[in-house]
Amino acid sequence: TYVVNESCIKCKFTDCVEVCPVDCFYEGENMLVIHPDECIDCGVCEPECPVDAIKPDTEPNLEKWLEVNREYADKW
Ligand code: SF4
Repeated sequence: TYVVNESCIKCKFTDCVEVCPVDCFYEGENMLVIHPDECIDCGVCEPECPVDAIKPDTEPNLEKWLEVNREYADKW
């Protein structure tokens, strides 16, 4: 899955949401998140993010953000 990190906080761009083929972006408290069970790992959103906030969960130190993404996405 791809994960949204802290760089997204207060970002107002939604280019990522528009390109996601499975609509798995959700609104968190002050950032967007990706539902880890719905993301199909296509990678299309990553280059669209102007603040570089979207990373594959294979990158280091994203455990905490993966939890945050799941927690916010599950509220919907
Ligand atoms: Fe959506 Fe693809 Fe990004 Fe996953 S990697 S959030 S499926 S655009």
